[in-house]
Amino acid sequence: MTTEKFDLDYAPALESTAVVNIAKQYGLFVNGEFVKARGDKTFATINPATEAHLANVAEASKADVNKAVKAARHAYETYWRDMPGKQRARYLYRIARQLQERAREFAVLETLDGGKPITESRDFDLPQAAAHFFYHAGWADKLDYAFPGRKVTSHGVVGQITPWNFPMMMAAWKLAPALATGNTVVFKPAETTPLTALLLAEVLQDVDLPPGVVNIVTGAGATGQALVDHPDVDKLAFTGSTGVGKMIQRAAAARRLPLTLELGGKAAHIVFDDAAIDQAVEGVVKGIFFNQGHVCCAGSRLLVQESIAEMFIEKLKRRVDLLRVGNPLDKNTDVGAINSAAQLGRIADLVKVGVSEGAEIYQPKCSLNKKGFWFAPTIFTGVQQSHRIAQEEIFGPVLSVQTFRTADEAVQKANNTPFGLSAGVWTEKGSKILWMADLLNAGVVWANTYNQFDPASPFGGYKESGFGREGGMQGLSAYVRTDTGGRS
Ligand code: NAD
Repeated sequence: MTTEKFDLDYAPALESTAVVNIAKQYGLFVNGEFVKARGDKTFATINPATEAHLANVAEASKADVNKAVKAARHAYETYWRDMPGKQRARYLYRIARQLQERAREFAVLETLDGGKPITESRDFDLPQAAAHFFYHAGWADKLDYAFPGRKVTSHGVVGQITPWNFPMMMAAWKLAPALATGNTVVFKPAETTPLTALLLAEVLQDVDLPPGVVNIVTGAGATGQALVDHPDVDKLAFTGSTGVGKMIQRAAAARRLPLTLELGGKAAHIVFDDAAIDQAVEGVVKGIFFNQGHVCCAGSRLLVQESIAEMFIEKLKRRVDLLRVGNPLDKNTDVGAINSAAQLGRIADLVKVGVSEGAEIYQPKCSLNKKGFWFAPTIFTGVQQSHRIAQEEIFGPVLSVQTFRTADEAVQKANNTPFGLSAGVWTEKGSKILWMADLLNAGVVWANTYNQFDPASPFGGYKESGFGREGGMQGLSAYVRTDTGGRS
């Protein structure tokens, strides 16, 4: 028998960056054009994989946000509110088609600015963003059928704020339903990933969206705060951390503003002993290491039935050994860069806490770049319910493993966090899935799969994961007022 050795390492398969054209400086997108921020204030956005400077981006002050809200109000009252739905739909269809046509450019820019693997921005973020515009374009002229027997009106000017983990997809989740229902928007993307929203502004110009219907103000927390506090905003929609969400909820409550909050999560991924084991291992890996674990619904807690725990954890470790951590532009990369130095610091701190609380850490051997922000895929076993790594959102590639003996115990452990966004169940028994889905305190429950999204399917949470839904009719309803005209 020959004992030939094979080198099974992958040759690099780099995506070209020639398709994107990054300007040195970006303005705010107000009233259909790019304008400087007051005092010409800017901040830098960098590539987290290399720390290379990408561009300077305008930082919107209170006065700039005020201009954007005024532009949105004018656009609302002058044409968008009263435009027939059929006509509004045309703009949404055009945006969707442009996103498809320019998908590669958007995907490369998303990866450069955010650090996520190109295969994810190409195969997930961009198709999802386009799908949301297509889906909501379909609703724009059918609102009377979506809410039968009710008089449907838009809110007016909507303030929307998003995080950095899925910049384009989050923009689509927010903008598409707001525009379909006749609202105008002031949109603030996250400060570490503003570039794809600004490329989207170019698309809005290309499709001749009337000026002021969408305004994009870039900046950090203070810019977001100015939008939240603006007295002429009629509705707020926020996706981000639970802490900021709570502040926004207080501000909205004081002014009785309609609000949707999509916040953090600490999802349980529950694997029973009768599950298809190899598929479950694959699902658990995707559930936590997709997008470096920067996912609100990441399956960050594995609950595995005690009878299979040892075998399952062993298989999981062997699978994680094979994950390729590295250049996000390489099509072979499974795990890209952490989005920012600040986020890397938060992950490293919580991992230290996990070790000091007595959990056992496992990390595969992988060489991490010195430049840029990197964290090795991490599995904690021997985790107790009281450990901070079992309770707090880490928002990084870190999985906490616990075991259970009975289904009741699995439900109890799964629900024992302040969050309630999502959960996953792996078993061959349909009845067990339905029983669990009823009892799990989670807005979304996936069965024998994980991280599946569709614009027609509402997404959102309970408890500290927020309220309101995005996607489907439920998501649409957050952007309209419905009047029954006295009928109940
Ligand atoms: P973050 O709350 O720090 O920031 C989110 C956005 O809010 C950013 O645009 C930021 O500039 C802005 N902001 C910050 N302070 C503000 C203030 N005082 N007023 C108004 N706006 C302010 O969150 P992050 O670190 O960017 O994102 C990670 C968090 O987002 C995680 O907790 C994650 O779970 C959550 N998230 C939730 C969902 C969901 O659908 N439930 C989706 C993605 C991310």
